[in-house]
Amino acid sequence: MGKYLKPLGLNELEITDTFFGQYVKKVSEKIIPHQWKILNNQLEEAEPTYCIQNFRIAAGEAEGKRQGVVFQDSDLYKWLESVAYCLAGGQGKGFEELADEVIGLIGRAQEPDGYLNTYYTVNAPDKKWTNLVEGHELYVAGHMIEAAVAYYTATGKEQFLMIAKKKADLICSVFGREERQLKGYPGHQEIELALIKLYRVTGQKKYLETAKYFIEQRGKEPNYFTEEIKQRGKAEFFREFEDYELTYSQSHIEPVKQDSAEGHAVRMMYMCAAMADLAEEFEDKEMLAACERIWNNMTAKRMYITGGIGSSGFQERFTTDYDLPNSTNYSETCASIGVMMFGQRMASATGNAKYYDIVEQALYNTVIAGINIEGDRYFYVNPLEVVPEFCKEHTYMNHVKPVRQKWFSVACCPPNIARTLASLGQYIYARDEKALYIHQFISSRGKVHFNDETMEVDMDSGLLKDGTVTICIRSESDRKVKIRIPQYAENVKIIVNGEKKEAVYVNGYFTANVSQGSNSIKLDFAVTPRWLTANEKVRANNGKAVLLKGPMVYCLEEADNGNLLSQIYVEENVPVKEADSAEKFPGQIPALEYDGYRLKNRQEDMERLYCPIEYEKVKTVLKAVPYCMWNNRGEGEMLVWHKVIIS
Ligand SMILES: [Zn+2]
Repeated sequence: MGKYLKPLGLNELEITDTFFGQYVKKVSEKIIPHQWKILNNQLEEAEPTYCIQNFRIAAGEAEGKRQGVVFQDSDLYKWLESVAYCLAGGQGKGFEELADEVIGLIGRAQEPDGYLNTYYTVNAPDKKWTNLVEGHELYVAGHMIEAAVAYYTATGKEQFLMIAKKKADLICSVFGREERQLKGYPGHQEIELALIKLYRVTGQKKYLETAKYFIEQRGKEPNYFTEEIKQRGKAEFFREFEDYELTYSQSHIEPVKQDSAEGHAVRMMYMCAAMADLAEEFEDKEMLAACERIWNNMTAKRMYITGGIGSSGFQERFTTDYDLPNSTNYSETCASIGVMMFGQRMASATGNAKYYDIVEQALYNTVIAGINIEGDRYFYVNPLEVVPEFCKEHTYMNHVKPVRQKWFSVACCPPNIARTLASLGQYIYARDEKALYIHQFISSRGKVHFNDETMEVDMDSGLLKDGTVTICIRSESDRKVKIRIPQYAENVKIIVNGEKKEAVYVNGYFTANVSQGSNSIKLDFAVTPRWLTANEKVRANNGKAVLLKGPMVYCLEEADNGNLLSQIYVEENVPVKEADSAEKFPGQIPALEYDGYRLKNRQEDMERLYCPIEYEKVKTVLKAVPYCMWNNRGEGEMLVWHKVIIS
């Protein structure tokens, strides 16, 4: 088990938050039924996935070729994982029978030795484990294991866990350091963190050891991928892998020697999540130091204010320090979910709350932006500046969509958002043997079990309004409650059981002593709108400012401010007042209003592309809304970073 912090079980808490609660509800109401149709080719507007059909063919219950992308099976596993989290949280009961049925089908598609992957079973049985670079076998297995662990934890039913163990046992015997074993590792990391989860639920050390092996073997000389590619001669599944660069999959050097966030952003995050887990499990200081170096490089030099990572539309990857363009960036939703996973584990491994500041930044901005309020459309790519008509296919803007999409042919993000929202509780609270930890200020009620004692917690959060949070605790004995104090909080006021406390923090936590019976903790983070600028090396943002309130980044939208947003300027630190929220936005989060200017050319002949300058400053009142809610009112321009004039 984890040595430090354990998230609360999803069955131990209920999210009552007016903002997040609405998104969480969408998972069982909208996303799971919608995705089930897609898995079954029942949605006309989405490309067929063949997902369930592929399992039927692999099980010998249907005829034909297996179709769809090579990693298609993972869509079903992610669906099952979301179903499991919903069930654990007391939602989506109607899907349990369907899930049981489909788990039966998965079991029948598994080969006697434990192998399970519809592509290789049906289409290429003699090519198993021959293309680790592109074939995604270990990635798909990882998602299967994660789903099985979640389903077992939620329902106590063992069938899926047995299937996962059988596959994991096979992986543990195929890969490893012994002479007879393959010295390979996954082209897309994921199996590592999944095996650690499997170890934590079964107690079987070999899963943990194989996860460690995969991380330690990666990038070792002679490089397994280089050898594999040489033998194959050409790319098998992905044209873009023709000129494969090892940094893309962080296999250029051993992970423990890496210093910076490189390559494909999701791969990097999934790998780092596993590294942080391993650092904790083995108390491996060298591994933890590598995680810290990568984390520091990423958050100090390669991350958007929205918690987005991966600046490059080419190969969904990190580029270099301070290269953070606002309109052409990738910032995949899954990558920011990966930031949350990595941050959560770093907090656990180090006991420092600062990692949850970044978890919060990613969650409140890029991750929530990934889904619309209705819960049926998604962003894969999350730019900070959009002119819809410039987002043209077959150009350098091919990857940027000006409106959320119903689904994607590579559909990693929607189910990833679903499983993150359905398991949101894991990011709010954690506990160790003695204390309750509060990491996010999302209204919720929970029952925390300390051996045979139960602590009840009821949090009412006004973080997104005025920054006040009230926490009621009922404890059966004297205990500690450790509360993360967000880095943006100023003049923090803390009152515990009516007594004003000095705001003293250790490792980012304020510790409140609670006693047997009822306790109340009142926090005031004095959250008001604030302007920030970027490091001058971020060329894209020089002379610009961004508006935030608490964890939320705000943006201008055409719906409130008209088009040609690039004409807009604000004065340095212009005062901001709170306005009513647009009525359809959840949580009644205020919009923000402030004075600004448009710099327009007086020249009347604006038909010409270029003309002499005669600028005039036209005063205007601007209205900004939370970035995560942009594009919920139709297509239009959007802008995060404002140009600044000094008056
Ligand atoms: Zn994705």
